[in-house]
Amino acid sequence: MSGGAAPFPSRAERRELAAREGRVARILTFSAVDGPGNRAAVFLQGCSFDCVYCHNPETRPAVTAKARPDEQPAWPRAMTALGVVAAVWPYRAFLSGVTVSGGECGEQPDFLSALVGLFGGLGLPALVDTNGSLDYAARPDIVGRAAGFMLDLKAWDPVEHRRLTGADNAHVIANLRFLAAAGKLVELRTVVSPGLFDADSTVRHGARELAASGSAARYALIRFRPQGTRKAARDLPRPDDATMERLAAIAREEGAKDVRII
Ligand code: SF4
Repeated sequence: MSGGAAPFPSRAERRELAAREGRVARILTFSAVDGPGNRAAVFLQGCSFDCVYCHNPETRPAVTAKARPDEQPAWPRAMTALGVVAAVWPYRAFLSGVTVSGGECGEQPDFLSALVGLFGGLGLPALVDTNGSLDYAARPDIVGRAAGFMLDLKAWDPVEHRRLTGADNAHVIANLRFLAAAGKLVELRTVVSPGLFDADSTVRHGARELAASGSAARYALIRFRPQGTRKAARDLPRPDDATMERLAAIAREEGAKDVRII
């Protein structure tokens, strides 16, 4: 498939999309940290990864009954896509767009598709914030209607990735290549905690992929911060400035055009 824009839904299709139901962890009607500009952020409930440093552990379990004591969802509820749009709509004049995040929003692909289709069709460009576990090449409905993607590259090496997240990264790397080549990747992100995985190699490979596809996507190098993590992760090492600057230099050397330390 091509990553080009798919037409936004027709009136009849909008009715069907609006009725789709999904599990929503929470909605922020204003966020300055979930993508460029002032955005609403919709956090879907459930994630197939189990990252050691997860910052949103309460959004991981797909259902409350399976939640560990340190992961109790704060506000999980079944909502229709129309209900989500209605929650954001009063704030539209102050927003440059909407970011659909999680948990992992790709765990509910039909609901995600409805949200990006409805928001995009109403003039609120929707970004998808994803761990890359869904095969986006097989979902032209989502790719065509989303304004762009923010993708996590947690570790390049598959063994390290599995140790860090409990999951394989083959889809993540395939998505990085596919979304970058399609011009749909707006940001690649790597969270850095020294010793947890080979950050130099991960950043080198990630930046190479951006350069190989001519992508202008930002590469965000994110310092691990303990706020919001489970107790067990609070003592993970935090990177110093020299480490972050070294990683940024690697990313630039490999051809990433826009590198930010966050
Ligand atoms: S992908 Fe995100 S929500 Fe899922 S476990 Fe990792 S950090 Fe948490």
